[in-house]
Amino acid sequence: ASLAALDETVPPPHRVADRFAAVAPSKPGHFENTPDTDPSVAANRDLVRAVLARVPSSSLGVETIDAARVTTEGKLDSRLNAAVGAAASWGALSGKARGEILHRVGEALEARRADLIEVMASETGKTADQADPEVSEAIDFAHYYGELAAGLDDVDGATHVPEKLTLVTPPWNFPVAIPAGSVLAALAAGSAVALKPAGQAERCGALLAEIIKPVLPDADLLTLVQVEEQALGRQLVGHALVDRVVLTGAYETAQLFRSFRPDLPLLAETSGKNAIIVTPSADLDLAVKDVVASAFGHAGQKCSAASLVVLVGSVARSQRFRHQLIDAVESLTVGWPSDPESQVGPVIEPAAGKLLDGLTKLGAGESWLLQPKQLDDSGRLWSPGVRDGVRRGSEYHRTEYFGPILGIMTASTLDEAIDLVNEVDYGLTSGLHTLDPADLGTWLDRIEAGNLYVNRGITGAIVRRQPFGGWKRSAVGAGTKAGGPNYLVGLSHWAPAPSTS
Ligand code: GLU
Repeated sequence: ASLAALDETVPPPHRVADRFAAVAPSKPGHFENTPDTDPSVAANRDLVRAVLARVPSSSLGVETIDAARVTTEGKLDSRLNAAVGAAASWGALSGKARGEILHRVGEALEARRADLIEVMASETGKTADQADPEVSEAIDFAHYYGELAAGLDDVDGATHVPEKLTLVTPPWNFPVAIPAGSVLAALAAGSAVALKPAGQAERCGALLAEIIKPVLPDADLLTLVQVEEQALGRQLVGHALVDRVVLTGAYETAQLFRSFRPDLPLLAETSGKNAIIVTPSADLDLAVKDVVASAFGHAGQKCSAASLVVLVGSVARSQRFRHQLIDAVESLTVGWPSDPESQVGPVIEPAAGKLLDGLTKLGAGESWLLQPKQLDDSGRLWSPGVRDGVRRGSEYHRTEYFGPILGIMTASTLDEAIDLVNEVDYGLTSGLHTLDPADLGTWLDRIEAGNLYVNRGITGAIVRRQPFGGWKRSAVGAGTKAGGPNYLVGLSHWAPAPSTS
């Protein structure tokens, strides 16, 4: 093991396609991450209160955006044709020129920070402390991909050939940062974009388009499409004008897209079932704080969320970690995002099906340390649940639930804990809490996940510092990490440079 493995800009070896090998990432620039709104400043707290005062107090205000609706095949064709038409002159610009426009998009997003927070809270139930960093991440994507775009101009031995049209299908759980990142990467790489926002986050998608379009030289470069019917969805993904799809969503959705058009270049970040391992040398106070934030931030509705904590050796045998965990989880305030005190917001839909099973039914050998309770009639507000005694190979061990629920597993040794984590089909995020360098080495050698976090929570990837991308069933299609130096390279074709003789 080497500490170089901690450098998340190095993709797992199996994902480095040969054709990328000749392409150097852009030179490191002067990129700095955008700061979040500082809540220690009284004026900022007032601002957030004013924003939240406009958010519905006990519901999610999902809105349909008529302008985005595509109801017939003819309409779909004309939208996509317009975008492809705009792509020609956009793709002919230098990467540097496109990059400058992206920097202006970053400024435009910052200018609408309050509106973006409001729409995320209203439509998807995000609490302000979760929505604000998401705006920062979107701005980071604009500036970082803007910087990388310039690097596409001077690659030795290869000429960059932009795609004409990229279809972006983001999820509702990061309704601003993920669509912004995918849209801006495709634009930076010289492609036009069709954005199909998640059904539960149409207003977020529409606001993004409203902010980005006026900054572009041609508004048709970004077209918002919403399809209601499955047949049209199939036609959208399978459309001959679409060169590439960037999807963030369930593994099954990626498989479905593949079945619509098997030859389709697809870049998909998919599901996760993520764990944090806590070893006997860990700082338990820190571990509890990071486990709680990773499990219950945005009510656990993140692909990156901690769904399991694996306690090793003496941590498993003693009750200390469990007691501290219960205290911390019980101290969380559950509520609608309109209340600035809320720390755990609503789940996106009234809990049903798989999530309800996770929240209410115990598997063999399991017991509740904290039993989740439904807090109002909406079916959306749940107090966080912690189950102990999750068994190897059980339903809970293997299933992604996407809600405010955490399971505890135990292992005698670190190796056994790593086995438990690696046994699931996914490999998105993974955490280790330890103060022992030997543990770190073992874990780095063996753990199967795309995003590794040591003595830190496992959510909240950071553009350029901690690029984001999964392994195993958490990623489909050749790709490199979002927010990392090779991401734009993966969004285009490359042709050999013309010989100069
Ligand atoms: N990038 C997000 C994070 O690091 C996760 C994205 C997702 O849930 O799809 O927390």
